[in-house]
Amino acid sequence: MSTSTPETHEFQAEVKQVLDIVVHSLYTDKEIFLRELISNASDATEKLRHVRLTEKDVLDDNLDLEINITGDDQAGTITIQDFGIGMTHDELIENLGTIAHSGSKAFLKALAEGGEKNENLIGQFGVGFYSVFMVADKVDVYSRSWGKDSEGWRWTSDGSGSYEMELTEGLRRGTKIVAHLKEEYKDFSKAETIKGIIRKYSAFVAFPVQVDGEKVNTVEAIWLKNKSEVKKDEYQEFYKFQAHAFDEPRFWLHFNSDAPITINALLFVPTDNPEKWGMGKVDPGVALHCRKILIDSSPKNLLPDWLRFVKGVVDSADIPLNISRESMQDSALINKIRGVLTKRFIKDLENKAKRKPEDYESFWKAFNPFIKEGVTTDWENREALAKLLRFESSMTEAGKLTNLDEYLTRAKEEQKEIYFLFGPNRKAIESGPYLEAFKARDIEVIFVYEPVDEFVMSNLGTFQEKQLVSADNKDIELPDLDDPSKGRPLAKDKLESLTKWIKATLGDKVGDVSASERLVDSPAIVLNADKFMTAQMRKIMEQLGDEAGTMPPGEAVAFQINPRHKLVRTLYNLTQENAKQAELFLHTMFDNTLMAAGMLDDPKDMINRVYSLLDQIGTKKE
Ligand code: ADP
Ligand code: MG
Repeated sequence: MSTSTPETHEFQAEVKQVLDIVVHSLYTDKEIFLRELISNASDATEKLRHVRLTEKDVLDDNLDLEINITGDDQAGTITIQDFGIGMTHDELIENLGTIAHSGSKAFLKALAEGGEKNENLIGQFGVGFYSVFMVADKVDVYSRSWGKDSEGWRWTSDGSGSYEMELTEGLRRGTKIVAHLKEEYKDFSKAETIKGIIRKYSAFVAFPVQVDGEKVNTVEAIWLKNKSEVKKDEYQEFYKFQAHAFDEPRFWLHFNSDAPITINALLFVPTDNPEKWGMGKVDPGVALHCRKILIDSSPKNLLPDWLRFVKGVVDSADIPLNISRESMQDSALINKIRGVLTKRFIKDLENKAKRKPEDYESFWKAFNPFIKEGVTTDWENREALAKLLRFESSMTEAGKLTNLDEYLTRAKEEQKEIYFLFGPNRKAIESGPYLEAFKARDIEVIFVYEPVDEFVMSNLGTFQEKQLVSADNKDIELPDLDDPSKGRPLAKDKLESLTKWIKATLGDKVGDVSASERLVDSPAIVLNADKFMTAQMRKIMEQLGDEAGTMPPGEAVAFQINPRHKLVRTLYNLTQENAKQAELFLHTMFDNTLMAAGMLDDPKDMINRVYSLLDQIGTKKE
């Protein structure tokens, strides 16, 4: 086959249709044409490397295996040259003139049949090349196959109906593609633009990619290596490059799996929480690659939202490269990858917490909001995430943390619930009215200090089948504490009439009024009657809801009195002797319990009552 007059060939029938799809809708970003051409060049170079292993007579055997790119902004062209395997006359027709025929795929198949597999081949689908017609109105492909006596050919097309082929002298081995850019895409001929695109999509290509002689891809795709082959400072270096970060990675997870899908992942946890100081919500930081080539630098569904603080790379050879981002979002494959990655990541944290508790606690201090967010939003993983929660409790020293598993190992067998209390800090909870009943019975109570924690606890609901209950809830039943040292209780009938009188006096300020053995040192307490929300949380929600006006009214608090307390006895006696004083006494007592619970909204009445108490004391003295 040799002729000096150009041949004209029609594209295969389907090509015109597919070209139309590729040019107009397959890719969102026009710049990815360069990714496709570089991937093809890399594939061709990889094939040549392979050929060299077995063949002796290779054309231009001294050429370096590199990819050269130059832009000419005068002419408005971009040229991509490789010294790879090249294409013969017939291969040009077969590979570029017919669609859904991928030479690379055929090559892989051949390798597979020979018992080999080559992960470095990118192309699989046979349409990537056509993406160049998104930005070019004319493309010249100069190619010369690797065989010693091969001919060089120029393939030219405007991407519409046909292409032309002409025998061309003086070509070196491999392929050179010259894209004549459309007016509106002339920018792609600028060296800086070209370098930017390469750094974005092709930073990890295995062969040197040079722009005007300068090597642009300087970073190795270490995620594809074996863990034992990568040094600590290589990981640190890579993190800074990939995440554009200035801090050190706190730790990283490097793992490879083959089933159910091929995944190579390298995930980093930064030192600093990127959302601290009220910085806005960050974008996902783990890029999706397919065989070293970037598909999406910030894919939304690759990891659950709560893992957005993680940086790094996920590479799956199973992802079709030629797929647009929009269709990427909900693909079943991505869901699978997300499932595997999330479970692995959580497991890794769990192991870290066991093996290096100090490291985990330091992580927890910086990143706990994300774990909490996970508990409330990631249904699939909530139990595993709940194990990662850390708190102080009534049984830890101040500043020391514990977790739900440890809590359960300390709990007595008959304890059916896990108790927690919310307060602004440890001291406030310890001096508050709710803890004493649990302390007296040696029951552990978890301390939580942030409003979101209460939400997390009630949202989590149960842990190891035990219900999480706020310790201020009225329905909690605690074992009897028959402690004679606390004095005799008020007689049953007196108690009954006293609680009735209290209910009548306080009216709808309270719900249930009862006597309770739960109390130890306090005369009375108010308890939350709302099963789903603690009083504190309701208050916060009400404040928020006020604006939206959506908050349903809560149930009135329950009021419990301590039948063994001296002041309760005094109150009973007053009801018999001086109804007016008894009322003042009760209201003051009730105010105190509200205040202890942090639920006293308006202190004005209380202040007036205290003054009238003082007044009565003074009157007595006179
Ligand atoms: P894919 O890369 O998915 O196979 P493309 O449309 O990108 O599909 O390329 C089609 C085919 O053209 C490739 O499989 C390969 O055989 C051939 N080809 C493309 N670019 C080159 C190149 N630079 N050198 C050699 N062959 C190439
Ligand atoms: Mg390709």
